[in-house]
Amino acid sequence: MQAVIEKIIDETKSVKRFFLKPQSKLTYTFLPGQFLTIRLQDAERSYSIANPADDSGLIELCIVLNPGGKVTPLLWQMQPGEILEISEALGNMVLPETWDKDLCFICTGTGVAPFRSMIGHLLKADELKHDIYLIFGNRYSADILYRAEFEVWAGQNEGFHFIPVLSREEGANRKRYVHAVYEELFADRRDAHFYVCGWEAMCKEARQRLKAMGYNRKQYTFEQYDG
Ligand SMILES: Cc1cc2nc3c(=O)[nH]c(=O)nc-3n(C[C@H](O)[C@H](O)[C@H](O)COP(=O)(O)OP(=O)(O)OC[C@H]3O[C@@H](n4cnc5c(N)ncnc54)[C@H](O)[C@@H]3O)c2cc1C
Repeated sequence: MQAVIEKIIDETKSVKRFFLKPQSKLTYTFLPGQFLTIRLQDAERSYSIANPADDSGLIELCIVLNPGGKVTPLLWQMQPGEILEISEALGNMVLPETWDKDLCFICTGTGVAPFRSMIGHLLKADELKHDIYLIFGNRYSADILYRAEFEVWAGQNEGFHFIPVLSREEGANRKRYVHAVYEELFADRRDAHFYVCGWEAMCKEARQRLKAMGYNRKQYTFEQYDG
């Protein structure tokens, strides 16, 4: 399917937000948390859908440049009005059918994209059934994607806890990694579902630590961006 690039926002010095309008008579449907693939030249790459479905019919992607990579440098040259070849929505990292426990979203960098879609969807409900934690790791505060929006959401919803963690800055929740945060927040080992998204090293470590905490395979879902 083809999609027109409607708009591109330079979010940070290495991350862009792409807004796509699928060129199909049928509405493009997706579940919060799913991804699509982009085919450019002879390469195909996956990207999480970063927005919850809304009336605009737009799909938002949040992509970090890999300067030595094959596809992202090509995307960096593209302009609004150009066409991309995209797939239908794919993937199994979606919200539970029944929301009966706390949800803890753990991510780094653009791994936040599917969680923005999922949490945005949950917050549209009148009332939060359980608490939602977003533990978002970055090196520096300037790297925190969607920060203002998450802060507004946290201000408006008592049950949504936005916890940015900075590995290279001094101060509260700084010089830390995401792992110590969920270990503390869930030290009581209460029932919860964990979603983890990002690059291999973080995902691997989260898997080991959640297991060591006593959580079982049904209590966590991973989306790994590489490996
Ligand atoms: C299900 C899924 C969803 C994804 N969603 C997103 C998304 O929403 N946003 C997004 O930015 N990326 C996302 N990715 C990653 C994306 O598919 C590409 O891998 C990435 O954009 C690099 O593509 P490239 O062609 O530029 O680099 P490639 O030529 O594919 O890069 C080569 C190598 O660089 C490594 N690499 C690339 N970027 C990084 C990085 N930032 N940190 C560490 N290692 C890296 C890869 O592991 C690979 O080994 C997702 C991947 C999957 C599997």
